[in-house]
Amino acid sequence: MKELRGPQVGQGRSARRKDPEELGLGRALKLYGRAFILRCPHCGRGRVVQSWFRMHPRCSACGIRTERGEEDFFLGSMMFNIILSEGLFVAFVIGLIVIRWPAVPWDFLETWAILLMVAAPFLVFPWTKTLWLASDILIRPVTEEELRWYEENQDRTIRPFEER
Ligand SMILES: [Zn+2]
Repeated sequence: MKELRGPQVGQGRSARRKDPEELGLGRALKLYGRAFILRCPHCGRGRVVQSWFRMHPRCSACGIRTERGEEDFFLGSMMFNIILSEGLFVAFVIGLIVIRWPAVPWDFLETWAILLMVAAPFLVFPWTKTLWLASDILIRPVTEEELRWYEENQDRTIRPFEER
């Protein structure tokens, strides 16, 4: 089990955290909206997707690490991969049935539904990562200390949160 550490004595800045970091619908929409257009959920300006299957290690604008200090950070993105893949699949099947009813091309549907099921996890890949990052920022807002840590530790890859 991970050791939990409270705020450090003498660094009491976290107590003065600003209101925009609260867990609200507006903030969630903003973070997920940025994630949907594949921008940094934190600042909305930087690019975080390097290629279809690869994330930049850091946001090009604000500098936050896309893995936010944990090696297995993106394990949680698998949840979004399942949700988005299944959503795409269901939308395709139901959409085709509704549009073509009653002359539904069942043979076509059978073949393409299977192909889509195989391809969907790859098609939605970049969004699974950015949406997961947005969820993490929603729950664990980026603090000034964290941003400072990124600035001061450009080349480090170990956990910025737990070690402080
Ligand atoms: Zn950013």
